[in-house]
Amino acid sequence: THISIDPDISEATKRFLAQPPRLLIDGELVEAHSGRTIDIVDPGTGAVIARSAAADAVDADRAVQAARRAFAPDAPWRKMSALDRGRIILRLARLLEERADEFVELEVLDGGKLKGAAASVDLPLAINHFEYFGGWPSKIEGNTIPVSVTDAMVRTERVPVGVVAQIVPWNYPLLMGVWKIAPALAAGCTIVMKPAENTPLSLLRLGQLALEAGMPKGVLNILTGYGAEAGEALVDHPDVDKVAFTGSTAVGTRIAQRAAPMVKRVTLELGGKSPNIIFDDSPVEEAAAAAASAIFFNAGQACAAGSRLYVQKRSYDDVVGRLADIASSMTVGHGFDPSAQIGPVISTRQHERVLGYIDGAQEQGATVAAGGSAFPDAAIPGGFYIRPTVLTDVDDTFTAVREEIFGPVVVAQPFDDIDEIARRANDSPYGLAAGIWTRDISKANRLARLLQAGTVYINMYGATDAAAPFGGFKMSGYGRDMGHANLESYLETRTVWTNLAH
Ligand code: NAD
Repeated sequence: THISIDPDISEATKRFLAQPPRLLIDGELVEAHSGRTIDIVDPGTGAVIARSAAADAVDADRAVQAARRAFAPDAPWRKMSALDRGRIILRLARLLEERADEFVELEVLDGGKLKGAAASVDLPLAINHFEYFGGWPSKIEGNTIPVSVTDAMVRTERVPVGVVAQIVPWNYPLLMGVWKIAPALAAGCTIVMKPAENTPLSLLRLGQLALEAGMPKGVLNILTGYGAEAGEALVDHPDVDKVAFTGSTAVGTRIAQRAAPMVKRVTLELGGKSPNIIFDDSPVEEAAAAAASAIFFNAGQACAAGSRLYVQKRSYDDVVGRLADIASSMTVGHGFDPSAQIGPVISTRQHERVLGYIDGAQEQGATVAAGGSAFPDAAIPGGFYIRPTVLTDVDDTFTAVREEIFGPVVVAQPFDDIDEIARRANDSPYGLAAGIWTRDISKANRLARLLQAGTVYINMYGATDAAAPFGGFKMSGYGRDMGHANLESYLETRTVWTNLAH
């Protein structure tokens, strides 16, 4: 084990990284029952920067019991007024803002992020999320219902669903967790959060910050560990009322199956293979730059990445040529290198997987218009870098066109007209996002209505906001993150009938 971290890293982060590996259960940092740990690797160097605790079913049970106690009717979290619950969430937003620099460092070291991107995207969005949901507790209202039964009064109450298990991936280690934590807290639930095994640091830190913000113990437990072990133990636990999952479609379907016999509530945010569609009335330069950022942001490790590029025939050569130039000129490097425009992928496994898709596409006949290999060819010792890659001469049957690669690889194809592109865009098991670029706004909206996608971007790509629902059609999942749609998924409706004649 060697620790190699930037000498400029703050003392606070160094101290945090040097902490013994612990779970956060019932307000306490505790060792995993088995004593086993997981090495946490900086994807930019391959160096081990910390260790985390590997929870098993015993730890999962402890965490669920803590969350259950914190959800008891007489527990502080349940007796607290809605306004006070909101105040704690807002205080957490403030603390996160104050410590943003530390969290940026963790996201760079653990998640392989570019420092600038973590500071301008991940942290502000996470803070906004707590701000948005911090305002909600005092606005969760029921209804009175005009029923036909005489002398009966009927009202509905919106009540928290209970103990929630949340399982999230590594591509936005903090933000994917916050997307789920904030609405669950606003609804009044208690939480066992399981971060991805390779990126647990920022959520573990957040759990500690929540205690500082005044969150009663046991409300937010952080259970680090492997999916097949800690994750599955949570899904199987009879005292978990709801499972909220973000990750691959393969794991998502497995979770839904395991949760079904207990009729647990399940929401799934899964993979994508999102089409980005550029009509020939779009300015070439702008279109190419947009196509590049839609796929290369976060090294392509975004569920909504614009990974299938379709350009209308007349401008296909120009746009794809320009996109290839942009890709070839991007500076690949460590997240702390200010000149880096694209960072590493998360792990050796992911590195091999992505390169495997590139090789496979070439075997099927694809042309590499840019990138196509590890960076540098000999690889920075230990770093998991891949050159931004543009593949052409593909068709809709290619594996690289059909499957989610989750790396800096875009497949480009020409198209003729709106009906053809609607059909081809929808020819995917996924339906997470889509982009449309044209000066003709009615055409854009006509096409938007034909697309099976949970989010459609017109003349922009990839934005998210705490207030705007986000999620998938088809095999990209069900339920929505963000917005009040998400809050709903953490609430049950209780209908109360009263006999007024009694
Ligand atoms: P993954 O499914 O392998 O892992 C996600 C999480 O599930 C991790 O915490 C993992 O430990 C856990 N897990 C693994 N096996 C499990 C099991 N059997 N039971 C319970 N939990 C288990 O996904 P990944 O490779 O980490 O993440 C990439 C995927 O996430 C991509 O498919 C991407 O599109 C998707 N994603 C979707 C969204 C969205 O909002 N739709 C957002 C980000 C990422």
